[in-house]
Amino acid sequence: MVASENGRHGMVAAMELLRQGGTALDAVELACRIVEDDPSDQSVGYGGLPNVLGEVELDASIMEGRTLRAGAVAGVQGYGRAITLARKVMEETPHVLLVARGAERLAAETGEVPQDQHTGETMQRWQARFAERGVEPAPHGNLRQVARLLTRPLNLQDNANRAVDSAVTKEPRVDTHGTVNFIALDRYGDLASAVSTSGLGWKYPGRVGDSPLIGAGNYCDNRYGAVACTGMGELAIRVSTARSLVLYLKMGMSLTEAGYEALRDLMDLDAGAGQYMNIVAMTPRGECAGFSTVAGKRYLRMTASMEEPELVDRIMLDHGQAE
Ligand code: ASP
Repeated sequence: MVASENGRHGMVAAMELLRQGGTALDAVELACRIVEDDPSDQSVGYGGLPNVLGEVELDASIMEGRTLRAGAVAGVQGYGRAITLARKVMEETPHVLLVARGAERLAAETGEVPQDQHTGETMQRWQARFAERGVEPAPHGNLRQVARLLTRPLNLQDNANRAVDSAVTKEPRVDTHGTVNFIALDRYGDLASAVSTSGLGWKYPGRVGDSPLIGAGNYCDNRYGAVACTGMGELAIRVSTARSLVLYLKMGMSLTEAGYEALRDLMDLDAGAGQYMNIVAMTPRGECAGFSTVAGKRYLRMTASMEEPELVDRIMLDHGQAE
């Protein structure tokens, strides 16, 4: 299995399932659920950072490499375990993606228990940012402006002004977003991938990142490989990172070359400081790698013979390879 750095507990439990003969699909769902249920992870599921109105909106997707079936939900409120809902979209509806009201209806119809996703810690953190930035909560006012100030520096709109706007260039690099993702290869030779997130904190209501978009933040094909992303979703959406990397594998590139090519696609965008993208990938033979557009990022890797996942550096492009 491979995962984002915050997937440790989920990975250990999922690996046990795989050891007992469980499927990759069950393993990635279980792993995500464990992180979704954990309120100390403020980027996923219960206790995830809210949007600018204080609403927790969850996104998730799951994909099965043998059949290329996929399911996803976006903007879900009032239910945790978005990954299980995504799986229900895949298995119990003829669709791939359900948003907000529809996804919540499916949750209710299939017996999911509604639960307030806010925790005291995240609400305090949410509130404090308004004061830090000198911004008034404006539920009926100009939300565009408020969300823009609160999501800085993760705001592509500001990039054009970066050179002249000192408020943007001096912005401390705080992580106000995050995601958990997992890719598993089981003993039957099947790959599966799962991604879950509460998205970008203080986002404009209804903002959807790459995580629930098949092809952007998640893609899985038994023949070539599986890919999952974390980081600023707007970047992966614009260059279809997950599917592109799998396509590069299909075209015959090695895993490292395919990752470099996906990074080059991302580097062509107008990303500013702090606006990064991370990728994990695995081939059908179990070869795996992590990539990032910035230095210092790591991912988790675990095989059935290991007791604990290990943290591995993600590969990035050096200057020569960026051309
Ligand atoms: N990719 C997620 C999103 O854009 C957030 C993250 O991974 O940090 O919603």
